[in-house]
Amino acid sequence: MKIPVPDYIESIRPYMPGKPVQEVERELGIKNALKLASNESPLGPSPRAMEAVREYVDQLHVYPEGGGYYLCQALSRKYGVPAKNIILGNGSMEIIEIASRTFLSPDTRSVFSAGSFALYPITCRIVNAKVTAVPMVERNHDLDALLRAIDDKTRLVLIDNPINPTGRYVPLREVEAFMEKVPETALVVLDEAYKEFVRKEDYGSALSLMDRFPNLMVLGTFSKAYGLAGLRIGYGFGHPDVIGIMHKARSPFNTNAVAQIAATAALDDDAFVKRYVELNEKEVAFLNEGCRKMGLEVTPSVANFIFMDVPMDGVEFFQKLMREGVIVRPMKGNGYPNSLRVNTHFREGDERFLAATAKVLGR
Ligand SMILES: *Cc1c(COP(=O)(O)O)cnc(C)c1O
Repeated sequence: MKIPVPDYIESIRPYMPGKPVQEVERELGIKNALKLASNESPLGPSPRAMEAVREYVDQLHVYPEGGGYYLCQALSRKYGVPAKNIILGNGSMEIIEIASRTFLSPDTRSVFSAGSFALYPITCRIVNAKVTAVPMVERNHDLDALLRAIDDKTRLVLIDNPINPTGRYVPLREVEAFMEKVPETALVVLDEAYKEFVRKEDYGSALSLMDRFPNLMVLGTFSKAYGLAGLRIGYGFGHPDVIGIMHKARSPFNTNAVAQIAATAALDDDAFVKRYVELNEKEVAFLNEGCRKMGLEVTPSVANFIFMDVPMDGVEFFQKLMREGVIVRPMKGNGYPNSLRVNTHFREGDERFLAATAKVLGR
C-alpha cells in the first residue's frame, strides 16, 4: 500500500475477538465445538426480541429512527432517567468510541486500569490521545492510583465494573468516593456491561449517582444478559450537556432498526434475564469449584465468566482445549500470560469444559 498511515494508527494492536465456532470446526476438522470465549448467552436471545424481529422484517427498507426514540423511551421508563440523558450505540463499545471522539484530542489524556477491557487503549489511540494505563491491585481497580493519574489534561476515565476479564468489581460507595475527588473536567465512564449478573449487596449501578456528578456517564448493553450481542446495541446515561455534545460526534443512524426493535422488546423480558442470572450464579460456582479441585487458581468473578490461571502458557492451554473442541479466551494480549477467561454455559457445557481441562492437565 502506498498510502501513508499515521504512526498512532499503525501501532495499534487490534482487538482480538473470540474465534467463531464454524472456523474452529473447519480448521480442526471437528464438530460440535463449544464456544465459551465471548461471554455470549447460552440461552440464546430473549424470545421477545426474536418475536419482535420476525414481525419487523417487512420494514427493512425504512431507515432507522436516528436517535432510537422508542428504545430511549423504554430505557427512560425502566431506569427512571429522562430520555435526553440517554444515548444509544452500535454496542456500548461504540459509545466509548463516540466519547473518545468527542472529548479526546492529541493534547489530552485518557486514564484506565491496565488489564481491564481491551478496547479502552484502542479507542483512545485511534484519536491519538495520550494514554495512562494504571496497574491494578489484586486484579481490581486501584481507584486511588487512578485518581493520582488524572491530571488537568485528562478528559476521559474508563472503568469497567465488573471488570472484563478479571470478573472483580468495585463497591458503589467506593465509586461514589472516587467521583467526589475527580476533577469536573474529566468524564468518568462506568462501563457496566455485566451489572445484571452481580449479586453483591455492596454493588450498585453508578446510575444512582448521576444527579450529583455531571461528569459521570454510565453504560449498559444488550449483548450480555439479554443475549443480543450479534445485533450490536448498547446505551449510555449521562448529563444532557454531555449527551448533547456526543450526539454531534456520532453518525446519524449509528444503531440499526432491527437492534432498536429487539432491544425495546427484550427490555421488558425480566423473566429471561432472571433465568440467565440464576443459571449463571450456579454455573460460576460450579466452574470455580471444578477448577480449584484441579489445583487451578480462579479469581472470584461476579460476571458471566470465570477467570483462571493455568500452569503453562495461556495461549498454549487455549490451543490444547480447542483440540478438545472447547473454545475459551486466552488473555495474554491483555497482560495475563497464564490466564484464561471462560464464560458460563448450561451444566452439560460446563462439565465438558472441566473434562477437557482435566485432559489438558493430564489428570
Ligand atoms: C462485553 C462488554 C461490553 C459490551 O460491548 P457491546 O459493544 O455492547 O457488545 C462493554 N464493556 C465491557 C467491559 C464488556 O466486557
